[in-house]
Amino acid sequence: MSELYSRRCRSCGASFVYDPQSETLKCPYCGSQETLTPSYEGIQEIDLEEALQAAQTPTSLTGYHVVYCQSCGAEIACQEVRAACGFCGSENVSEKALQALPVKPQGVLPFRVSQEEARAAFDRWVRSLWLAPSDLKDKRQIEKIRGFYLPIWTFDAQVWAHWRAEPGYYRTRTERYFDPRSRSWQSRTVTYVEWGPPVSGHHQDFYDDVLVSGLVSLPTSYLDSVGGFATPSDLQAYNPDYFLGWEVALPDKPLPAAWKEAYQRIYEMTAEACKRALPGDTHRNFSMRLQLSGLTTKLAYVPLYVVAYRYKGKPYRVVIHGRSGAVHGESPLSWVKVTLLVLALLVGVGLLAWLSGR
Ligand SMILES: [Zn+2]
Ligand SMILES: [Zn+2]
Repeated sequence: MSELYSRRCRSCGASFVYDPQSETLKCPYCGSQETLTPSYEGIQEIDLEEALQAAQTPTSLTGYHVVYCQSCGAEIACQEVRAACGFCGSENVSEKALQALPVKPQGVLPFRVSQEEARAAFDRWVRSLWLAPSDLKDKRQIEKIRGFYLPIWTFDAQVWAHWRAEPGYYRTRTERYFDPRSRSWQSRTVTYVEWGPPVSGHHQDFYDDVLVSGLVSLPTSYLDSVGGFATPSDLQAYNPDYFLGWEVALPDKPLPAAWKEAYQRIYEMTAEACKRALPGDTHRNFSMRLQLSGLTTKLAYVPLYVVAYRYKGKPYRVVIHGRSGAVHGESPLSWVKVTLLVLALLVGVGLLAWLSGR
């Protein structure tokens, strides 16, 4: 056993686990606790150019196994051997010993929401689903809520953008037309766009920690859907004690691919900011020249509960934020309930039409 993971309870010798409620190391058998002192020091932002060229430095994390999922490709490090993938629910997994985390993490956001709180949030979410099939609510497999530390890549960038566009202004005019029904001339108001001469300007901004998921099998949209993670203010220096008793997903999205995704996000955010500065009601022929400087990156881990289940052979996933408890989920629709709803709406629309026609 390595020195990192010989964190044993002094009273009974069992292995400590990280407890989100007390934010300490806690013995699951006798309840003894050991304080964890949060540290915000030493988190390094690494020059992007250098990081892209250099090989990533791994960091040892012994005492863990890796479960590799043949269905979704996720590689999950955990202390107990698992028979199913916690990401997609597939039982098509193989296992090996973990030597090291493939990339040295700079920081970690520890769990704050406990397993019980995550379950309560999940139950509330399930109860709110009235278009889901009724038998979903007592499916055994959806009760497997598992807490994961997920790898994320963060990027900082100083942006300078020059933009140009033609602004448009909504105008109205009254026009005459011949109505064949009443066989008479009528007037109506039409809206049109009056295009102004091209305008241009520039926009400067600094983006702190643009996040990109480090996992191919869990797109960044999942992290956004539960509100993202406040890494600039809350990220702590990497400390493997926070991983004790939890599952750790290993990054499988290489830095160049993550940077490509981050660049796209930065481009879109900047274009939106530029468009907000445009005069008028609409625009056309928008173009933007983007210059980036001070680019840095780092790898960190963030907490997320994942419920992966299969319903009639199809995989679904529900995610719960490990610090706020926010839930985002996918669920199968009940076609019986959806059909009834559509029929009810059609009847309602028909009734309204009939009433207004009277
Ligand atoms: Zn103990
Ligand atoms: Zn899987």
